[in-house]
Amino acid sequence: MSPGNSNILDQSVQYLKSVGPKRAESFNKIGIKTIRDLLFYFPSKYLDRTTLLTSSQVYEYSINGFEGEATVIGRVADKEKRRFGNKEILSVKFKDSAGFFECVWFQGAKYFEKYFKEGEIYAISAKPALSKYGEVRFTHPDFDKITDDESQVFHNTGKIIPVYSVKKELKETNIGDLSLRKIISDTVEKYADDLAESLPEEIKKEHNLTDIIPAIKNIHLPQNQKLLEEAKQRFKFEEFFYIEILVALKKHNYGHNLQGVSLSVKTDLVQNFLKTLPFKLTQAQLKVLSEIRKDMERAQPMNRLLQGDVGSGKTIVALISMLIAIDNGYQAVLMAPTEILADQHAKSISKMLNKLSEEFEGRQIKVSLLLGGQKKSVKNKNLEEIEQEADIIIGTHALFESNVVFKNLGLVIIDEQHRFGVVQRAKLQNKGGTPDVIVMTATPIPRTLSMTVYGDLDISTIDEMPKNRIPIRTLLRGEAILPEIYKFIIDKKEEGYQAFIVYPLVAESEKLELKAAETYYKELSETYFQGLNVGLIHGKMNWQEKEEVMLLFAAKKYDVLISTTVIEVGIDIPDANIILINDAHRFGLSQLHQLRGRVGRSDKQAYCILVTKDELAVSSSYKNVNFEYLSPVQLERYKSTIRLQAMVKYISGFKLSEIDLKLRGPGDIFGIKQSGFPELKYGDIVKDTAALIKAKEAAFAVIEDDPHLAKEKNKTIRKNIIEHYSQNINYAKIA
Ligand code: ADP
Ligand code: MG
Repeated sequence: MSPGNSNILDQSVQYLKSVGPKRAESFNKIGIKTIRDLLFYFPSKYLDRTTLLTSSQVYEYSINGFEGEATVIGRVADKEKRRFGNKEILSVKFKDSAGFFECVWFQGAKYFEKYFKEGEIYAISAKPALSKYGEVRFTHPDFDKITDDESQVFHNTGKIIPVYSVKKELKETNIGDLSLRKIISDTVEKYADDLAESLPEEIKKEHNLTDIIPAIKNIHLPQNQKLLEEAKQRFKFEEFFYIEILVALKKHNYGHNLQGVSLSVKTDLVQNFLKTLPFKLTQAQLKVLSEIRKDMERAQPMNRLLQGDVGSGKTIVALISMLIAIDNGYQAVLMAPTEILADQHAKSISKMLNKLSEEFEGRQIKVSLLLGGQKKSVKNKNLEEIEQEADIIIGTHALFESNVVFKNLGLVIIDEQHRFGVVQRAKLQNKGGTPDVIVMTATPIPRTLSMTVYGDLDISTIDEMPKNRIPIRTLLRGEAILPEIYKFIIDKKEEGYQAFIVYPLVAESEKLELKAAETYYKELSETYFQGLNVGLIHGKMNWQEKEEVMLLFAAKKYDVLISTTVIEVGIDIPDANIILINDAHRFGLSQLHQLRGRVGRSDKQAYCILVTKDELAVSSSYKNVNFEYLSPVQLERYKSTIRLQAMVKYISGFKLSEIDLKLRGPGDIFGIKQSGFPELKYGDIVKDTAALIKAKEAAFAVIEDDPHLAKEKNKTIRKNIIEHYSQNINYAKIA
């Protein structure tokens, strides 16, 4: 291992001959301060110029339409400046063994005219075109001067050429493609050998990774595709490895540095509660509960992610966990992302607990609800309850506020966690010593991702639906047959069905031509649904108004509820068994899945009717496609059709989330941004999952063996974390 002369690498870029103070400043503006930074400014793409062609070969290929770039070597034969309006165009004619070709510059004619001298030899690379006289022509090509000097370095020819993104800050100081490539390649030549190895030898060996010096050289000046690929792999692995070291540290810190409380089943509270349930828990619910119970019994605080598809029965699991906390004399918090949902949880939980106290003796369990929109007097009363006597506290973001003081918080449960950022989560966690924490989500992310992105959490999965469910029937229909669908809703009312009708926006937006809930509420209740009771709910209402509507709907005072996506999350109304989603192509896949989850919560057949533009509904060319086999271009083109067809085909949220991942890329996926997982420079969380998992395993093994990175063999890791991942270190800190 080279000792590495890292002092030199920490010099400012201004230390380089080709970079004066002005240019140094423009590099600084884009975050390149030191020579090391420059070495780690990786190309955004590569051009393979390993094959040289003659001018006549280029001519032949060009007739058939030439893909990509060609490189030709020729001698300057002639130069000509032409005027074109008030612009000067330079044409330089080159001769090679097979004939002539031309290079054209529309800018910098004066400069290039001086630069190219007759008789000199150049290698020219660019995408070729044929002029109207049938000559091979290159416009603004890359070039290398070829001299007799054998030791000369070609920057632009005969190899795989790195292409760097030239930000506008650089352009302002006259740094273009060619000069940036030259600056970086000079830097690599001169300083790459001073880099110190940043991965432990053992890890490198085990995972077959290239050493840092050849890797950096091949990133910038690839010898061939194979070595380039290996170099890329090394840096991806390294990045994943260090981030997973942080994840592992976070997990370790949580488990070991925090003193939590040990909670166990003390009385027959939980047993009695189970007896009052009208159904048996599923195997999956029982399995998850036993994982939670084991965690609660340990003195180390629990930090667990509970995943389960919409309707899989997470709320009951949450409630039972809360009862265990209460059984030990602690308070439990259930936090929901919307006021409607918090309100609904409070009502249904109170109802279940009332049944418990009717059927069994025992102390009354006190439930308090805290919402931001509550009247001041109500809120103050609730705050007092929370401080003094509440057992179960349900609420929204309002629970974060500083005036909320808990008596003794033992358990925090966060519902639909993808709606909350990590920072918020930490805030609540901070409120009461170190309570146990469960975050629940119905937006499953594929296992490989949850393992790595939520690697600091233990994961429990409810992978089974309650037995009484009949799978929801999902239908895709064009707008033209809306009247028939309305009739279906009216007919089904006779069987006690209620229906949601969902629209994408609240107010009519001319620009998007989307239907608006308000307009359609009026229209539908005056026409098709004249004989039915129709309600309206939308996001512009305050929560009391929303609550009133939801209560009326739950009490079957409405047959149809016209709605925007406010009903998306968590709402549970068993008799609502039809959901009609308008402009379904406008919704994301996880949103559609959430919306569909609003129905099918009873033992009756439920329907999800996706209504879209007629042509999307009938285009059956992508029916029954296997999404695995579509190219990225096809995916892009047929996104909305694929989403809609996927909804028809799959009921499982896990399956849909995999498709969603393919369609959207990781940045957009619910839960990943919010997970606080650092942004990646080299790796792609989706495309490189295999490497990500290997890196995770390696990182976790290191931390398990040496949680303080104190061992000699882990010195490199420690040093590197401090020096190069400091901006991400906060991620590893715990609340
Ligand atoms: P989610 O996981 O989407 O939050 P909920 O907790 O709202 O789902 O549960 C959906 C519905 O299923 C509720 O009405 C709940 O009472 C019911 N439920 C939960 N567990 C079971 C079970 N084991 N058997 C039958 N119904 C159940
Ligand atoms: Mg729920």
